[in-house]
Amino acid sequence: MLDMSATAMSDRILIGTKAEGLTPAELRRRALAGAAHIRKSGALVVGYLGGNGPEFPVALFAAAYAGVPFLPLNFRLSDEQLDEILERQEGLLLLTRDAKRIGTGAFSLDEFERIAREGVGEEATPTEPDEVAVILMTSGTTAAPKSALLRHQNLTSYIFSSVDFASTEPKAATIVSVPPYHIAAVANMLSNLFAGRRVVYLDHFSAEEWLDVVHREGITNAMVVPTMLSRIVHALEESGQDAPPTLRGISYGGAKVPATVLQRALEVFPEVGFVNAYGLTETASSIAILGPDDHREAIASEDPLVRARLGSVGRALPGVEIQVQDKNGNPCPPGVEGDIVVRGPQVAGEYRESGSLVNEDGWFRTRDLGYIDADGYIFVNGRADDTIIRGGENIAPAEIEEVLFRHEAVQDVAVAGVPNEEWGSVIAAFIVLKPGRSLDRDEVRDYARQHLRSSKTPDEVYFVEEIPTTPTGKVLRRHLVEGLLEGAAR
Ligand code: ATP
Repeated sequence: MLDMSATAMSDRILIGTKAEGLTPAELRRRALAGAAHIRKSGALVVGYLGGNGPEFPVALFAAAYAGVPFLPLNFRLSDEQLDEILERQEGLLLLTRDAKRIGTGAFSLDEFERIAREGVGEEATPTEPDEVAVILMTSGTTAAPKSALLRHQNLTSYIFSSVDFASTEPKAATIVSVPPYHIAAVANMLSNLFAGRRVVYLDHFSAEEWLDVVHREGITNAMVVPTMLSRIVHALEESGQDAPPTLRGISYGGAKVPATVLQRALEVFPEVGFVNAYGLTETASSIAILGPDDHREAIASEDPLVRARLGSVGRALPGVEIQVQDKNGNPCPPGVEGDIVVRGPQVAGEYRESGSLVNEDGWFRTRDLGYIDADGYIFVNGRADDTIIRGGENIAPAEIEEVLFRHEAVQDVAVAGVPNEEWGSVIAAFIVLKPGRSLDRDEVRDYARQHLRSSKTPDEVYFVEEIPTTPTGKVLRRHLVEGLLEGAAR
């Protein structure tokens, strides 16, 4: 795909800033030079322990041209956690700027960049569609992270089913602010590059910095996770600034966006088309989207069923099959909750740790619960692993969180099950209050009781300073519960 971009758009800057960007032809030249070094080193896998920047696509394509898998690593993991992952990789060439690791056998990312910039490339190693292109760890929200082996075909299928070729305009640009070890960073870079949109990197996200880059670089499209969207909206509301005029599309996903945040986002970005993208590491990013027209129709409609679509993740992308199945693997009727399963060329074949991830019929179980309405709109109710089983009743934290979020004193909230002798589990609400606001436990419970069935009223309420999340905005409920059990929460 890079060969195609390099031929079709050879003179257009597509990676980096206006001042210091790379054309796809230059990216290809550097990647081929990097590939020559990888091949010479005899590496069987290329690890990447770096940040967000043009060196990321150079390293990724260099590995692809050398015919070896690329493994972006989470630089926020502890040394011990990283060592455990790295020890499992046979024939690893680790690219990093960490002096300690370079001293013990890793290769300097700066030196690799220099070789790519100044070196001479050779022919690319031919690769088959079913060879592993990228190894990505899942976020580890519910359990220890697993490594999904993504094949070239998984990634190209995603690009072909999602790319909007008609939108190719010479000045289109996107900002990638999710960390490079997340599937969204890989998929966004690839699909935007292929669509002819310049990819601008922001290494450390802050709302102010993001808005600054959007203004400075004339960004037209962006992908954000819910916590980022919420902070950007807050920054615009606080400063009274208008939305950046060049911005035309925002895609959000990776976790559920609270309805109140989406509502405010639609208000501060009146000219922007929104896309809710639902996907997993194992599915090479998005498998379903709620597009800009769906958002507009839902806002304008008087029909409650159409309005409700604002809370859905839309419909399956072309080439992707999504079903909601009951415990026996049969499809559920419209509106009935079950397991969300997915099938198609985007689904990775295996986990490194446990082998095949699809069943004999080719279905991959996402471990999300949800339902599909009569018009094919998919609603994600939450992770099966997060379900609270209280006295035999299955309770989804998301529904309770959505209600508590609407309370005007609540800044952030997470709900989780806490082990309990009598009920199996009870419902605990962890609440971050807005500055200067106060609430007590009974007020929270009373508010919940007004909007929810009594069995869904939180049994316990804890006021905390922040809700722990992964850098991509996924709530780490198990950390809250572990903290509580260790007596850390007040
Ligand atoms: P682990 O599998 O290690 O617990 P994880 O599943 O959180 O981690 P990812 O693959 O990064 O790792 O996340 C995929 C999950 O994120 C989905 O299964 C879903 O629960 C959630 N998700 C992604 N996009 C959306 C969206 N648009 N709306 C709601 N939830 C989403």
